[in-house]
Amino acid sequence: MYDIIILGGGPGGYVAAERAAAKNKSVLIIEKDQLGGVCLNRGCIPTKSLLNSAKLYVHALEGTRFGVTAEKVTYDLPTAMAWKREVLDKLRKGIAYTMKAMGITVVTGTGEILDKNTVLVKETGEKYEGRNLIIATGSSPAVLPVPGADSEKVLDSSGILELETLPQSLVIIGGGVIGLEFASYFHSLGVKVEVIEMMEEIVPNMDRDLAQTLRRALKGINFHLKSKVSRIEGGTVFFTPVDSEGASGAKPSQEGAEQSVTGDLVLMAVGRKPNLTGYGLEKLNLDTNRQGIRVNERMETSLPGVYAVGDVNGLSLLAHSASRMGEVAVSSLCGERETFNSKAIPWVVYTLPEAAGVGLTEQDALSQNIRYVKSVLSMKLSGRFAAENGFTAQGICKVLAQAETGEILGVHMAGSYSSEIIYGAAGMIEKRMRVKDVKEIVFPHPTVAEILRETILSIKLENKNA
Ligand SMILES: Cc1cc2nc3c(=O)[nH]c(=O)nc-3n(C[C@H](O)[C@H](O)[C@H](O)COP(=O)(O)OP(=O)(O)OC[C@H]3O[C@@H](n4cnc5c(N)ncnc54)[C@H](O)[C@@H]3O)c2cc1C
Repeated sequence: MYDIIILGGGPGGYVAAERAAAKNKSVLIIEKDQLGGVCLNRGCIPTKSLLNSAKLYVHALEGTRFGVTAEKVTYDLPTAMAWKREVLDKLRKGIAYTMKAMGITVVTGTGEILDKNTVLVKETGEKYEGRNLIIATGSSPAVLPVPGADSEKVLDSSGILELETLPQSLVIIGGGVIGLEFASYFHSLGVKVEVIEMMEEIVPNMDRDLAQTLRRALKGINFHLKSKVSRIEGGTVFFTPVDSEGASGAKPSQEGAEQSVTGDLVLMAVGRKPNLTGYGLEKLNLDTNRQGIRVNERMETSLPGVYAVGDVNGLSLLAHSASRMGEVAVSSLCGERETFNSKAIPWVVYTLPEAAGVGLTEQDALSQNIRYVKSVLSMKLSGRFAAENGFTAQGICKVLAQAETGEILGVHMAGSYSSEIIYGAAGMIEKRMRVKDVKEIVFPHPTVAEILRETILSIKLENKNA
């Protein structure tokens, strides 16, 4: 009998396995596809590999003003795809090596839960027993329930990562993080991109100032906000305006009239749904909610000895959240008291330019009646940002702090390097740092990160002594 059986070898599952093995627990991972899960095989890493190739292409095209002129610049999709495959292959091998080195047993096959201590591997008929079970089965792309969603021209995020030729035009349904990353990628390569989003702003849970800055920075992409898709015919997507308060910036569609946009391909990027069926989960009769398997902050489900981590519990659909949850689950089953703090989880949109954030948005603070003060600075105040991007580039840093104590509540950034800076802000929020604590931290110069310090120090607190 193993100490722990982990169902699913994505960033939730394999990081839980590493943490457990480091604590001398015997661990079995059952993975039906490839180690690394969606993140490594169909998500974070393949998209970033392709986005970087597009960034190189754009830099080559736009180098003239920096004194670098490249001629006959081309983008070769098969080469970019081959590079992506090479990266994925090496990283998969890296995980497999770590599992082996740490004494973790990996079984390839589809697990089916028989009871909370027994999992059957369908392909071999082998049964495995464990004292604890960690469910890390992830999520799958959601599909809009509209006529034509099954058209051959409609792809999901996995399908579009396998393209062999670039389309000339692409319609993306969904202006969330995944939709925008693909929009930025294809637009950078000269593909005509239309994004249809039902809410009044892109990435609806992003701070509104940031979302607007990002949308303006993604010049050339056509956004149709407050627009509800009603049907799809081949590559033509039909949509109608929807009522929502406070339209921001982009023109909403004409009231009432059905409109349409056509692309060579359509990307369905309307979110993800937890994987809850097809592997015997119902036998455990766990509490679930709209998001997935219900867990507490220690990743415990309603059944003692059973934990659920990552996308399957829906708390935060991010790879680093899944990994942190995996660590917390192992800590819980070892009788320790670590918890998952969703308030300090950073997120990134790897568009060109990129955006990142952590903590409360201004809209959160308002709706929760939190007394806050804020500061918003342009990234152009950073010497490095100006040197590398010039003075017309879009970039902001916005910080919210508690009005009296000066505790940092939220940091939101759009502009180059945001993805590499935001973890520092996450550390500030996790450790409940105040404005005056940041005054004592020295940032290297010249870095874009300095804008974070400048923005924090420019906050005017109500209590001058805080
Ligand atoms: C296009 C795209 C881009 C993304 N980019 C980012 C990003 O930049 N940053 C970020 O943080 N997140 C990103 N994400 C989200 C990230 O991929 C997920 O949050 C993360 O993979 C969730 O990890 P997980 O371990 O919960 O599940 P998954 O990674 O989904 O892994 C679950 C694993 O369980 C296996 N499994 C399921 N059922 C069974 C069964 N019955 N038996 C055996 N195995 C089973 C699956 O095969 C899979 O390998 C992206 C997602 C997509 C789709």
